[in-house]
Amino acid sequence: MKSAYLVEPRRMEIREEAMVVPKANEILVKIAYCGICTLEQRLYFGDRKIYYPIIPGHEASGEIIEIGKEVMTSHQVGDHVVLDLVNRCHTCPACLSGNSNLCENRFKKGQRVLGAFSEYMAVRPDQVYVVPKDLPLDEAAFAEPLSCCIRSLKKVNLQLGDTLLISGAGTMGLLHLKVAMAMGAKVIVSDINAKRLENALALGADAVVDATDQKQFVEQVLANSNGKGVDCCIITTPSKSAAESAFMVMASNGRLNIYTSYNDKPILPMDMNTIHRNEYMVTGSEGRSEIDFYQSVRTLSNRKVHVAELVSKIYPLEEISAAVEAALVGDLYRVLVKVG
Ligand SMILES: [Zn+2]
Ligand SMILES: [Zn+2]
Repeated sequence: MKSAYLVEPRRMEIREEAMVVPKANEILVKIAYCGICTLEQRLYFGDRKIYYPIIPGHEASGEIIEIGKEVMTSHQVGDHVVLDLVNRCHTCPACLSGNSNLCENRFKKGQRVLGAFSEYMAVRPDQVYVVPKDLPLDEAAFAEPLSCCIRSLKKVNLQLGDTLLISGAGTMGLLHLKVAMAMGAKVIVSDINAKRLENALALGADAVVDATDQKQFVEQVLANSNGKGVDCCIITTPSKSAAESAFMVMASNGRLNIYTSYNDKPILPMDMNTIHRNEYMVTGSEGRSEIDFYQSVRTLSNRKVHVAELVSKIYPLEEISAAVEAALVGDLYRVLVKVG
């Protein structure tokens, strides 16, 4: 079987290796598609390091090939599945309190991290979620990024009828848009790229606002939120002015989630008294817990969210380096790798 290893920054190698044999408590999955996320891009360019050599890839779909003897499940060989490729120990305080996305052991030494740029994977049963066979496997590979958006919108307690500002109209901004629409919110999307704003509007945003000029941005967002400002805001772009602009258009009791990560450590652009007076809530969100993943799988399976428009390009595993570099180009949405 073939696997794509990142052996050092900017150097991927396709290696032919012995077929993986699942343990008695594991499920063997043939990987179909895997998306390229910012995590893979950061690893590739050396901005983030886990260990070398590493097989990246964590947005995977595929098919069950074999089920270990000790696995307690009703899944069947041949089932189409998506994989939740994070380690959850189920014993630490984060896991026990329902926040296993923050499991303190998830990056513990000796654990396999990621791994889906490989034709076959042996995984734990709790990493496997079945999807219906009529859901195309390239769309199913969005289960992981979608689950992170679901968590993000829960963190700001998005309610039916709320007005939401999504700052940034890239793949994650548009996935947030799709979930928020399904949840009955009025959604305003902002970006500095006119083409991206046009696409957000075509996908159903109630309004789009150019964020280039802060004064105009504030006027337009207020005009689209009864002059009161938005109830919730999700920052999906690492642009530092995005959070500052967002605070200027939040209604009282506004909730803001820092969804994006930053390469450096910018300070919150807000004074504490304004937070106090308006009962603002500021949170972050990182990854997804099991229930977020399960809800994402059901949402995709029930066709309550459609993601086909967000597949920009599909590359074969052999062209993995080209795929990762293409994923960085500003006007693309998700780039997928067709693994097997
Ligand atoms: Zn991801
Ligand atoms: Zn844990």
